[in-house]
Amino acid sequence: MVRVGVHVSIAGGIAKAVDRAAEKGCDVFQIFSRSPRGWRFNDLSAEEAMSFTTKLKKSGIGPVFDHMPYLPNLASPDEDVYKQSVSTLTAELFRCGQLQIPFLVTHLGSHRGSGQEEGLKRFVGAISTAFSETENSVELLLENTAGTKNSMGGSFEDIAAIIDSLDTERVGVCLDTCHLFGAGYELRTMEGLGTTLDEFETLIGLDRLKLVHLNDSKGELGSALDRHEHIGLGRIGEDGFRTILRNETIKSTPMVLETPIDSRRDDLGNLKVARELASS
Ligand code: ZN
Ligand code: MN
Ligand code: MN
Repeated sequence: MVRVGVHVSIAGGIAKAVDRAAEKGCDVFQIFSRSPRGWRFNDLSAEEAMSFTTKLKKSGIGPVFDHMPYLPNLASPDEDVYKQSVSTLTAELFRCGQLQIPFLVTHLGSHRGSGQEEGLKRFVGAISTAFSETENSVELLLENTAGTKNSMGGSFEDIAAIIDSLDTERVGVCLDTCHLFGAGYELRTMEGLGTTLDEFETLIGLDRLKLVHLNDSKGELGSALDRHEHIGLGRIGEDGFRTILRNETIKSTPMVLETPIDSRRDDLGNLKVARELASS
C-alpha cells in the first residue's frame, strides 16, 4: 500500500493539523509549523508540542513533514537576508525536534545572479551553521526546483554537489514531480521514469530519497514552470501518474500532495485519484 497524504493547515493550533489529516484519511502529512508568510513567529510552548505529539501517536499517522516558510533564501548574496534565513532554518529544526517531526523540507533558494557556485557555497554554509546550532537528529530534505531563473537545485547535479560537500547523514531529498517535469526530467513513461531514477541513483543515491511531492504540472516538460495541477489533469497526465504510482521506488516512498483546491477537485478528490492510480 502507498503512504500518501496532503499538506494540512495548523489554523487554530498545531494539534488541529492531526485532526485535519485524520479527517482526510492521510497516511502521512505535511505542515508549516508557523505561518509561512513573514519572518516573525511565536515559540512553541511545551503544552502545544505535547498536545501535538500525543494526538499524533494516537492517530497512527506518520511520518510528518515540516516545510520551511516562504521568505528564507539560504543562497542569498544579501547579508541581512542570509542571516535571517539561517536563523529561521535553525529555529525550524529546533521546532521539529520539539514536535518530534523527523523531516524538514527546504528549497535551495536563489543566488539572485551571484552565480550557481557562489549560491552553493552560501547554501552549504547555511546548513552547516544551522546543524551545528541544533543538537537534535532532524533530517533536512532538499527539494528539487523547476529550474526557474537563478534558482538552485533544478538538477540532480546541483543537489549532489551540496550533499557531497555537506558529508552528513542529516540531509535527504524531496522530489517534487511537478518541479522535476518542469526541469526537463521525463516521468510519464516507464522508460523515461527509469532513466530519471537511474540518474538520481547514480548522482545522489536512492537511499537519500525520503519524500515525493506528488503534483501534476500546468507547464510542459522542460518549461521551468512551477505551477501545480490536480493529479492526472496536467501535462504529466493520468497515464503518466499511473506509471509513476506503479514504480516500486516511488510506491515505497511517502508521498504528499500539494495540489490546488478549486471547483474541479479538492484534497479528498486528489487523494482518491492517487490511490486508485496506484492500485489500478
Ligand atoms: Zn516546497
Ligand atoms: Mn513541493
Ligand atoms: Mn512548487
